[in-house]
Amino acid sequence: MATAGEAASPAAGSGGGRRRRVLLFPVPFQGHLTPMLQLAGALHARGGGGLGVTVFYAAFNAPDPARHPAAFRFVPVGEGVPSADLLPSGSDADFAVALLRLNDRLREPFRDRLRQALAEEEEEEGGGAAACLVVDSNLRGMQLVAEELGVPTLVLRTGAAACLVAYMAFPALCDKGLLPPASQDKAQLDMPLDELTPLRLRDMVFSPTTTHGNMERCLQHLLDAARSSSGVILNTFQDLEDSDLQKITNGLGVPMYTVGPLHKISSGTESSLLAQDQTCLKWLDKQEADSVLYVSLGSLASMDEKELLETAWGLANSQSPFLWVIRHNMVRSSHQVSLPEGFEEATHGRGMVVPWAPQQEVLAHHAIGGFWTHNGWNSTLESICEGVPMICRPQFADQMINMRYVQEVWKIGFELEGGLERGKVEMAITKLLCTEEGRQMRQRAKDLRDKAVKCIEDEGSSKSAIDLLLKRIMSF
Ligand code: UDP
Repeated sequence: MATAGEAASPAAGSGGGRRRRVLLFPVPFQGHLTPMLQLAGALHARGGGGLGVTVFYAAFNAPDPARHPAAFRFVPVGEGVPSADLLPSGSDADFAVALLRLNDRLREPFRDRLRQALAEEEEEEGGGAAACLVVDSNLRGMQLVAEELGVPTLVLRTGAAACLVAYMAFPALCDKGLLPPASQDKAQLDMPLDELTPLRLRDMVFSPTTTHGNMERCLQHLLDAARSSSGVILNTFQDLEDSDLQKITNGLGVPMYTVGPLHKISSGTESSLLAQDQTCLKWLDKQEADSVLYVSLGSLASMDEKELLETAWGLANSQSPFLWVIRHNMVRSSHQVSLPEGFEEATHGRGMVVPWAPQQEVLAHHAIGGFWTHNGWNSTLESICEGVPMICRPQFADQMINMRYVQEVWKIGFELEGGLERGKVEMAITKLLCTEEGRQMRQRAKDLRDKAVKCIEDEGSSKSAIDLLLKRIMSF
């Protein structure tokens, strides 16, 4: 969305011909790292030779500089900082605590690195002075360091606009005594939230393993980061989330740049932390159009052994072709994932299991007819942008919110609710791939895909927002 009062203009060369450098600091989880690096790629490409890029990164979960433009500088932060408890995984994972710790532990090392980077840039001829820091909205600690050293900040929200609107409403729901919910009673949890339609109270309980207090602190930091920034950048597009974007503009009081879908705008960046199995694309080539179910829970969500078993037999019994991502750490309390005996024979020739897939290419493949997803925002957006309808199985954080929009607002998928049972899995797959209802969801998803394509055309809303953002960066 264009900032009020600004007009779109070609961005390259703005800033009076001065060379500038944009600094970026992503959260070191796959779903956050990817859009930040895509943003870097988009800005770099659009900025021509006028914009340098420096990426600060947590030394664990490091991106690979070789897979990015040679002009990008990569600066590690916090080598030697203990990181085992910074990577949430397993059934008791506490994401809020991981983010709070990340801020605490990386703040001091970042101060040193940023000081150093600023000093080097002063010394360097033509290297480009740092214009600003684009920081993930969960890294309030790094933003405070930048403020201290006089570097302006922009904030990247890697989630949906709907999610930010829900986070903005969180403090008021606490003040009203609605959060945390007074009981686990179904009627109570299903209570619709009038100003956040189609969300229910249960969709605002972001994780069963995070305390309300930690969630409150995390969201407060996030809102502080957004409000004290020089602008918020969102990886979504105007035609998808128009009314929520409007609510953010009215509620935050800072400029907003709606630049998504970033994976369709950015080229030359590839940031997968795990090796992608490319052979599945060849396998997909042999399948019929719209026939294959792609199953993936993203980089952090998990299931227990019983759920793995029920999923396996649900897939087998559905008789539909499938491509299933089973990440090395996807099954809780199991070091080695074993599929049930007889599964391979039952699915021979129509199923493929891989440890990690080139997801964007998979979703873009004509053979894919549906996506069983945990509804992380990147996966949801990637699915929308390829016109692929979804079976939704959200687990934590913003995933429930994304699922509600997929099911109730865009009507391009449905939730697979309750305990996982093979019969329910089979029915859900059949509904998505083989019924008129599923076909209509696919059609609506394809209509949204067409809107996404328009947004990233030259005069489209997201392309114009990238230009405005670049202009803003060059103006600092
Ligand atoms: N992804 C991938 N290969 C896979 C599964 C996921 O490349 O086999 C990518 C996917 O394209 C997406 C990201 O990992 O960009 C996951 O982000 P998302 O926000 O969906 O979920 P998270 O991992 O943060 O829970």
